[in-house]
Order: sequence, then C-alpha cells, then structure tokens
Amino acid sequence: MDWIPIWSTKCVKCPARRADGDEPYCVYNCPHKALFMGEQAAAEMERLRQEGYRIYQLGSVENTKDGIIYADKQ
Ligand code: SF4
Repeated sequence: MDWIPIWSTKCVKCPARRADGDEPYCVYNCPHKALFMGEQAAAEMERLRQEGYRIYQLGSVENTKDGIIYADKQ
C-alpha cells in the first residue's frame, strides 16, 4: 500500500447528514467509492475479507481518530 488515509480528531462523522439518512461527505464524494460507514462498511469489510484482503485497525495516536478499519491486499 502506497497511501493510507488517517482520520484526524476533527472528524465529527457528519451527524446532520447521517441524521437525514445521508452518507458522510467524504463517503459520498470519494470518486472511487473506497470509503464506507456503518452497516455498509461491515458488508464491504466481509466482502473484502473473502477476497483475501487483510482487515485491520490502527490504534489512535496524536490527532488521529480510533475506530477506523482499513483493508489491504495481502
Ligand atoms: S466528511 Fe468525513 S472526515 Fe469530514 S467530518 Fe464528515 S465523516 Fe468526518
């Protein structure tokens, strides 16, 4: 993997959009549809796992946010 997104603590997970049933802005606007959240993320994670991707979570460090799952092709 050459590049990995790291979420900062400034992310608030777009509560107003999610309350309206919309995706967070970053998920909605990703041109490659590489970001998922909630139930959609769980389904995508399982699909990628079955395709042989390594699924992992990085611990939070200074100014990054916990709870983000990454998938990387092994
Ligand atoms: S657009 Fe994405 S990164 Fe920005 S606040 Fe919303 S969920 Fe967080």
